[in-house]
Amino acid sequence: MKKILFVTSEAHPLIKTGGLADVCGSLPKALAELSQDIKLIIPNYQALKTTEKIRFLCSLRVDNRNINILETRMPDSDVIVWLVDYPAYYNFPGNPYVDELGEPWLNNAERFALFCRIAVEAAMGRVHQDWKPDVVHCNDWQTGLVPALLSLEHNRPSTVFTIHNMAYQGLFPGRTAAVLNLPGKLWHPAGLEFHEMLSFIKGGLIYADYITTVSPTYALEIQTPEFGYGLEGLLEHRKESLGGIINGIDLEQWNPEDDRYIAQNYTAATIHKKRINKAELQKRFGLPIIDDTPLFGLIGRLVEQKGIDLILESLPEMVTMGLQFVLLGSGDKDFEKQLQKLADLYPDKIAITIGYDESLAHLIEAGADVFLMPSRFEPCGLNQMYSQRYGTIPIVRKTGGLADTVTDTLPETIANDTASGIVFNEASSGALLESIKRALILYSSAGTWKKIQTNAMKKDFSWQHSAELYLALYKNL
Ligand code: ADP
Repeated sequence: MKKILFVTSEAHPLIKTGGLADVCGSLPKALAELSQDIKLIIPNYQALKTTEKIRFLCSLRVDNRNINILETRMPDSDVIVWLVDYPAYYNFPGNPYVDELGEPWLNNAERFALFCRIAVEAAMGRVHQDWKPDVVHCNDWQTGLVPALLSLEHNRPSTVFTIHNMAYQGLFPGRTAAVLNLPGKLWHPAGLEFHEMLSFIKGGLIYADYITTVSPTYALEIQTPEFGYGLEGLLEHRKESLGGIINGIDLEQWNPEDDRYIAQNYTAATIHKKRINKAELQKRFGLPIIDDTPLFGLIGRLVEQKGIDLILESLPEMVTMGLQFVLLGSGDKDFEKQLQKLADLYPDKIAITIGYDESLAHLIEAGADVFLMPSRFEPCGLNQMYSQRYGTIPIVRKTGGLADTVTDTLPETIANDTASGIVFNEASSGALLESIKRALILYSSAGTWKKIQTNAMKKDFSWQHSAELYLALYKNL
């Protein structure tokens, strides 16, 4: 049995801004189910929600500050959670990274550096004398200083750093290194310095014993200039200690058979009932309730990564194809405005909801016929897996985890029952429109469509397999 300290800035259902939270909520639970002794450490944000009891564990004095560690557990699980309680940094409305107006916290470097220092205390057995981990598993830039600071400790645990998205690196002006009082030994171009800036992510990429990312394809992509943001050389250099492990999904939360957010539960055997969700979705979005009209859906952050510009370019032609389109998301204000404009122009074909709405996300997965995910890059992506589980056929670009989890519909994949979606290559509206046309042709053949739906629904996206891969990695460190 391994003792694992899992370090993260978000974990569902405590606090979530994106896929990172889904992974950091599910993976520790899956490891606990493999009988591992795992604890999760996270800042005690004001917005953090738990139904479990919270108790005081201890006080620490670090960096001239008094910090309390509180202990709770993940709802519905045995995973112990340590909350880093420092109200002056974390007790404000907003999310882990931005304030209520969406502006990044001005002291993000200080907030996450302190969090990292406390994680190091926990890693060295100085939070709980009886518990010193064998492995510290860090996630994304917010935790990047942990492997760096641990590299200076004697008798330290092994470290793993998982990249959930290379686009976010925690870059701050170089003088921040002094403000944070970081050891001089870490401040050089082969350390935390990146073109005279302080790079949190480099702490993970350089000092962790092993680096993972969330899909095998993305692990290769980040070693190239297109996806590596200037760190591709470093990653290539570390390729012997770099691998991809695909994320799973929470099969209890995302289960059409007993999803409480949707209008009608169904399984692959009762897929005909899916149309009740489609009607409910059309109603919720104020679109004409017509079962024959193919309904396309999209959920996600409205940022360039997700190919929203390709969607905007494609929509004027899509509305001529006899389909409906619903979208749930928020992000770039310009994208939001342009989408709203198109929805106003074609009110019986396009409908959008700007915002974050977990229950509506479930209804879209259940009610749409097709799910669009034309991402420019996608480290893993979760919605394409949720879609397949709900018999909603994803159209995805062949990148990162999308390439690893969706099997294109071709004569041979139809013949061998593996076709589960539609995959296109080029990041252009032309290529996206072509794949939408392919989807419409397949949709018009009820037998073929049902076959693809059934293939998709029976795929195994459970966490267990991925958790076993992580465990094998911990054992090999
Ligand atoms: P990323 O982490 O890049 O945002 P992922 O596909 O890995 O993308 O994960 C996104 C997660 O956040 C999914 O669980 C998705 O359903 C959810 N999500 C994104 N935007 C919204 C929204 N507006 N409302 C509800 N859920 C959302």
